[in-house]
Amino acid sequence: MRLRDGEWTVRPLSGAASTKVYRCPGCDHEINPGTPHLVVWPPDRVDNRRHWHRPCWDRRCRAARLPPDAG
Ligand SMILES: [Zn+2]
Repeated sequence: MRLRDGEWTVRPLSGAASTKVYRCPGCDHEINPGTPHLVVWPPDRVDNRRHWHRPCWDRRCRAARLPPDAG
């Protein structure tokens, strides 16, 4: 998906596949193991994956979305 700050690849991670504690950059709280959430990274920086709560990413998308006429 394309936002104001670039292109982002977003993949959902199931609770069963989430086996570690991650820190969500959206709220700076932990994502506990077993919690379904999203993994987000720039397409050209796969080593830069970040783990987000789904509501936190949704909020960021609303804040960083492009104007509708920008394609
Ligand atoms: Zn969060």
